[in-house]
Amino acid sequence: MKTLKELVRPNIWALKPYSSARDEYSGKEASVFLDANENPYNTPNNRYPDPLQWELKRKIAPVKKVLPEQIFLGNGSDEAIDLMFRAFCRPETDNVVAIEPTYGMYSVCADVNDVEYRNVRLDSDFQFKADDMLAAADGNTKLMFLCSPNNPTGNNLDRKEILSLLKRFDGLVIVDEAYSDFSSEPSFLSELETHPNLVVLQTFSKAWGCAAIRLGMAFASVDIIGIMNKIKYPYNVNLLTQREALRMMEQHYQVKQWVKSLLEERARLVEEFKRLECCRRVYPTDANFFLTEVSDAKKIYNYLVDKGIIVRNRTNVALCHNCLRVTVGTRPENDALLEALRQYGEPAD
Ligand SMILES: *Cc1c(COP(=O)(O)O)cnc(C)c1O
Repeated sequence: MKTLKELVRPNIWALKPYSSARDEYSGKEASVFLDANENPYNTPNNRYPDPLQWELKRKIAPVKKVLPEQIFLGNGSDEAIDLMFRAFCRPETDNVVAIEPTYGMYSVCADVNDVEYRNVRLDSDFQFKADDMLAAADGNTKLMFLCSPNNPTGNNLDRKEILSLLKRFDGLVIVDEAYSDFSSEPSFLSELETHPNLVVLQTFSKAWGCAAIRLGMAFASVDIIGIMNKIKYPYNVNLLTQREALRMMEQHYQVKQWVKSLLEERARLVEEFKRLECCRRVYPTDANFFLTEVSDAKKIYNYLVDKGIIVRNRTNVALCHNCLRVTVGTRPENDALLEALRQYGEPAD
């Protein structure tokens, strides 16, 4: 791996971060706070929140088996993705490499930051080779994006190839694990110690059932997290979100229960899909959704919209011609979808 100094944009390396009132004073003993121009009324929402969310990080750290200093918390994983570009990629000069198809935010963030985005097409099993990623890279490649389980394909990427890439690439490898709670494979968090160029992304938006609170996590070396903290907005995670996340951390068992029933529903839904006349195939999945090839994705998508049922039409995505991406819902929701698809094609009355 290159040194962090070689990887970070020079202006970011030299940056002296904004120092907020809550950065400059963070002791516990004081009881009179006249330093941040807050309104003394309307407790507790009158006070600026902890800019580094230490209470929450101390709760997350033992669960993830990392140090609190190895955790970045942001306004969704999307903030962490954007910060990676802003910290490491010089606009108009550097580039990133990612698999295709994958989560759309990587390329959007690349465009916003004026950074070249290089695609490496997955094979027909939706797998990649480290060799191909490295062949697409050059001296200005700072980041590589992998998503496992991958969105929209649903499968885990080959662990051997990810490890090979981590060993051989001299920049950072970002492994987006938004769906890892649903996966039969272990997380890459355990690889952080051996691979200083690894960044793992997770989120409260999927298995944790908290998409509305906007809370994403990045895990990496203390030094990489330090750089992300240096350039983030000072109070990027609001107090209501921090409090709600703390409450969710107490409900670990509930998340496990949700995951278990969603996996059972997924198995049932996939089996029923395979029996549908309009279904050509269902791709293997390790997430809370699956990709299915149907007879006519656009027609079926519109038919379902008419019935008030929304799935994701992925037909225009590489390798996903005539594919729909279906999220696993509650049993009645899944039944409504199945019932509608069984009626599809039958004459309207
Ligand atoms: C849903 C999803 C996320 C989550 O993004 P948030 O901003 O945390 O809601 C991240 N990565 C992938 C691949 C996703 O599908």
